Amino acid sequence: MAALHNRVSQKELKERLYQETDPRTTISFYRYFPIADPRLFRDELYSMLSGLKVFGRIYVAREGINAQISVPQPNFERLRALLEGVAGLERLRLNIAVDDDGKSFWVLKIKVRDKIVADGIEDAGFDMNRKGKYVDAVEFNRLTNDPDTIVVDMRNHYEYEVGHFDGAIEVPSDTFRDQLPMSAEMLGAEKDKTIIMYCTGGIRCEKASAYLLHKGFSNVFHLEGGIIHYAHSVKEQGLENKFRGKNFVFDNRMGERISDEVIAHCHQCGAPADTHTNCRNEGCHLLFIQCAACAEKYEGCCSAACQEAIHLPEEEQRMLRKGVEKGMHTFNKARSRTRK
Ligand SMILES: [Zn+2]
Ligand SMILES: [Zn+2]
Repeated sequence: MAALHNRVSQKELKERLYQETDPRTTISFYRYFPIADPRLFRDELYSMLSGLKVFGRIYVAREGINAQISVPQPNFERLRALLEGVAGLERLRLNIAVDDDGKSFWVLKIKVRDKIVADGIEDAGFDMNRKGKYVDAVEFNRLTNDPDTIVVDMRNHYEYEVGHFDGAIEVPSDTFRDQLPMSAEMLGAEKDKTIIMYCTGGIRCEKASAYLLHKGFSNVFHLEGGIIHYAHSVKEQGLENKFRGKNFVFDNRMGERISDEVIAHCHQCGAPADTHTNCRNEGCHLLFIQCAACAEKYEGCCSAACQEAIHLPEEEQRMLRKGVEKGMHTFNKARSRTRK
């Protein structure tokens, strides 16, 4: 029987990755579909993918699959065919990462999870099989020409801040879990209006569309492939672009510019800016928007206090970091922005 887990050390695996001669393509995909036995599905998938030297991180749950993987380029077509052959994964959209060196993963990890996107939904009657209708870029543009159509952004506040669709509603919560009930509450009595939800790649808004249907909304759509695919379609088909600003993504670029407009402001001086950065003070690491002038003035820090901290001896900085809670923290300006 084939090994279903890796037993080689991380170091050794990383070295092997760098010795590879074939370039790798980084791909992401997801699909909501019922998986009766996630454990069995996981084991079969692991055997198939390790045979093609696929690396990456995949989550499998009863509601579906979410994957970020890399594959040696010569194996790409075999991978596509293999996935196509899995019942439930037909006509899968594979998102290929651009500007990627394919070195993000050096091992294959497939984990069974409760959900592929944590949603906090406890209602047993919630059904991911009943979800909103997909819209593509053409249909999105057509539906949003109607001023009665409501567009809802299901991303985080810092993503919305630097770029969003014209007239899109922001749901000002820090977590997707809280955003679901909050979106239903904000839409209130608009049960029969045309509602289009969107997110970065489609996985969150697809769930959100099912949630709204579950809550009694009747005309719910979601943008297929998210902003990433929309931007691609607009370019390829020469369509009108209704997205303003930047699409925030967690990579070195911290976002892809989709229109020339800069819709956000520097959190320090208020000048137009839409470049996210993490505060250079390790003990702070705040994610915030900083213009080039302030980046220079504050040496990449979010405040004078942090700027002072980075010039302290390393030993003292370490002392200061002690007891500071870890994890990502961000300015949350969403609440004040939406309190109009
Ligand atoms: Zn500034
Ligand atoms: Zn700071």
